[in-house]
Amino acid sequence: MQTQPIDFHPPAEEAAPILLPVTTTLFADRADRFASLASGHALADWLNFLGALSRAQHDALKALPALPLPDATALAQARQHGMPPLDLGKRPAAWRDSLRQIARSAQPLAPETIQADLQRLIEADDAELDRLADALMQGNIAPGDALRIPFVAAALQVVFTDLASRFDASQLVKFEQHNVCPCCGSPAVASVVRLGAAINNLRYLHCSVCNTEWNVPRAVCTSCGTDKDVAQQEIDGKQGAARAETCDSCKSYLKIVYQEKDPRVDPVADDLASLALDLLVDEAGYERAGPNLFLIHAPEAV
Ligand SMILES: [Zn+2]
Ligand SMILES: [Zn+2]
Repeated sequence: MQTQPIDFHPPAEEAAPILLPVTTTLFADRADRFASLASGHALADWLNFLGALSRAQHDALKALPALPLPDATALAQARQHGMPPLDLGKRPAAWRDSLRQIARSAQPLAPETIQADLQRLIEADDAELDRLADALMQGNIAPGDALRIPFVAAALQVVFTDLASRFDASQLVKFEQHNVCPCCGSPAVASVVRLGAAINNLRYLHCSVCNTEWNVPRAVCTSCGTDKDVAQQEIDGKQGAARAETCDSCKSYLKIVYQEKDPRVDPVADDLASLALDLLVDEAGYERAGPNLFLIHAPEAV
C-alpha cells in the first residue's frame, strides 16, 4: 500500500457547482466502461454482466414516458426547508415498468444463480416491487431479497436520473453537508476529478442514485469536512484510475477516480473494478462513507 500526498490545484475560473446527468450517454458510457474494465480482470464475468445491466438501464430510460417534475411551489418549499427537490419516497409509477424491462433484458445474460430471482421480479405484483424499493431506501434488506436488490436499484437509478437530468442546475443549491446529493439527498458513490474547460482538476461527488455531480473542494473529507487528516491509498498503481481517500478524523473512506489517468473513468464502474482497494482500507479500519447500489447485500447474505 502506498500513501500519496494530495496534489491540490486551485481552479483558475468559476466552475459549475452542479453537473446534471446527460441521459443520452450516461448509462451507455457506463456499459462501455464496465466492458473495458472487465478485460483481463479477475472479476471479468461479473463486470461484464454489470455492463449488460447498464445497457439495459440505457434502454429502459429511453422507453420512459414523460415523468412529472416537482412544480415551482414544491421546489420553493423544498428549498425553504433545506430539503432536496426530488423525494425518493415518491417514486413515479413508471419505475416498476423499468424494473420489469431491465429484469427481462438481463435474464438471458445472468448467471444461473440469479435466474430464479429475476423471474420472481418479472412476475412480481406492484406491491411486492414497492416493498423491495422501500427496503432498499430504508437500508433494511432481508437476506432472501438481497439478490434482487441491485435490479431494484438499477430501475430507481433510471427514473431518478431521468428526473434529475431535466432540472435547471442554476435552481439547485448544494447542502452544507458535503456527502448529500443536492438533487435527491442520497449519499455519493465516489468522487471524480474531472478534465475539461472550467472544471479542469476539480473534484465532483457523484450521486449513488440520480447520477448528479456536485463540486466539493479537493483534500477535504467528504464525510466530516476536515482538511487535516485526509490521505489517499492505492495498491501499487494496480487499481488503475481509482484511489481510496481515507480520513483519520472520522475513519471513513470513499473512492476517488481521475479522468487524467483515463478520460473514460466512471465513478460507479471504476469503484466496482477496484474492490481490492475496499478490502485493503477496510482491514485498516476505515468504513465506507457511501454505497454502490450494485454491491448491496444483506449482512447475512455476504
Ligand atoms: Zn441524487
Ligand atoms: Zn472525515
